[in-house]
Amino acid sequence: MYRSHSCGELRIADIKKEVTLAGWVQKTRDKGFMIWVDLRDRYGITQLIFDEERTPAAVVEKAKTLGREFVIQVKGEVIERESKNKNIPTGEIEILVTELTILNESIIPPFTIEDETDGGEDIRMKYRYLDIRRNPVKNSLMFRHQVAMQVRNYLSNEGFVEVETPYLIKSTPEGARDFVVPSRMNEGQFYALPQSPQTFKQLLMVGGMDKYFQIVKCFRDEDLRADRQPEFTQIDCEMAFVEQEDILGIFEGLTRHLISEIKDQKIGDFPRMTYDEAMKTYGNDKPDIRFGMKFGELNHVTQHKDFKVFNDAELVVGIAIPDAASYTRKEIDKLIDWVKRPQVGALGMVYVKCNEDGTYKSSVDKFYDQDDLAKWAAETGAKAGDLICVLSGQTNKVRAQLSALRMELAERMGLRNPEEFAPLWVVDFPLLEWDEETERYHAMHHPFTSPKPEDIPLLDSKPGDVRANAYDLVLNGNEIGGGSIRIHDKKTQALMFDHLGFTPEEAKEQFGFLMDAFQYGAPPHGGIAFGFDRLVAILGGQETIRDYIAFPKNNSGRDVMIDAPANIDDQQLKELNIKLDLQ
Ligand code: ASP
Repeated sequence: MYRSHSCGELRIADIKKEVTLAGWVQKTRDKGFMIWVDLRDRYGITQLIFDEERTPAAVVEKAKTLGREFVIQVKGEVIERESKNKNIPTGEIEILVTELTILNESIIPPFTIEDETDGGEDIRMKYRYLDIRRNPVKNSLMFRHQVAMQVRNYLSNEGFVEVETPYLIKSTPEGARDFVVPSRMNEGQFYALPQSPQTFKQLLMVGGMDKYFQIVKCFRDEDLRADRQPEFTQIDCEMAFVEQEDILGIFEGLTRHLISEIKDQKIGDFPRMTYDEAMKTYGNDKPDIRFGMKFGELNHVTQHKDFKVFNDAELVVGIAIPDAASYTRKEIDKLIDWVKRPQVGALGMVYVKCNEDGTYKSSVDKFYDQDDLAKWAAETGAKAGDLICVLSGQTNKVRAQLSALRMELAERMGLRNPEEFAPLWVVDFPLLEWDEETERYHAMHHPFTSPKPEDIPLLDSKPGDVRANAYDLVLNGNEIGGGSIRIHDKKTQALMFDHLGFTPEEAKEQFGFLMDAFQYGAPPHGGIAFGFDRLVAILGGQETIRDYIAFPKNNSGRDVMIDAPANIDDQQLKELNIKLDLQ
């Protein structure tokens, strides 16, 4: 037996017990006649004492050789501590050691294994197994487990069945590139790793499983943006015989259950907003609604004067920053520089100070009088003491820019409280999205999403106006879930592929299996998938998902610990019949 108790377990009531503990040496303090060792395992830290008078001399000698992160086993008696440590649950006792076994030595770790470590991100990633010994990382992984358990509890109670779907498949398009795996037995052919289990979960509905879920890895070969992982985890779900309302109900319930169980907060009905409304009011399809600063569109109150910049703009739009009229010229210039950074990309910014005395002072006083500015204040909801920031230009761009400014200011003003949860459904997404690069329409969600029946006639005349039965769940400015009611008949699916620019042959080649299945009594169905890593991070109060993934990849998609991706040897290449032609 390696241990009778864990390092987090013993209390004052255990005094006089003979115990055996095992764990890692967190640190040692050698006072000559006495040595103290902090012994750590997943459950906590227990203090050991080696005392010249009461511990056998050979054991004391051995204790002197212990270094950080040695793995040891000790036997001894639980005694009351003289100077108690109120900060840890085991702080009232210590173990008077009588036997010590060194189970394994450790070389000096490259960073200190403590809550506040001296190790930078890179070194901690390279030695992730040491990083996991630290409380912040360990606790995050345990927190993730808790959330996963609550997800499984809730969905199982609702009658969902967890079914595993394969990883070696054919492309399932979710808008990214596939990771591919060469097949040795099928020369020249490749599997794709799933971008999501989308087609399989639909086939499970055709198979009559009725309610499916899976906490599942998905793989997307995208240019990595900050805080994205090439492999990530989804809570993937699908239901048969449902309408959008049924799905929103169940998954609003799941989210409420998680926030209640994990954060002990009760949340009422989730507000809903159409995609159009979200874009118009927040410039963004995943608005953070924990604070205001709603957009006020100003075209009609700005384009009657000689200010060419506004007159030429497709959209003129502003937000009122609360209590910011007192910003100095320098502070405002800094804000203007911020929106002009290439990452944001605005050409400039017009501002209006709403003075406490009810007058206005703007950067465009040459063009606009007090009456004009009062109208801008009304449109943006500005009150005395606020600062109105106005951007103009092409609609999509300006919305994105002003939305970035809104989020930045909220962050600076401390309005993004991680302990406050404000979920929101965004519904009625467009079915199709114009892609400038390929000059084609793409499915905004994925090609299996059903159009709203009443919009189908627009598919030919105004494809961009067709709305989908698609919805996103947004939490604190993050899209945490998205799904749709699916197409379940072959004809509509073929029509969809046609509009996405597939020839019937291409559609058959790629998705023939799904269209075939639709001919055998496919039930109406729909579903949703949650980004599990992100959800856990938000519930945990952090915005970075890396902390909640045991072995994450870095910003270039590398695992720096195992050093992957890596070359493979010639023999393997030969077996796969792959010839590399690297210049
Ligand atoms: N497969 C979709 C996704 O990964 C989710 C869904 O439509 O259920 O975003």
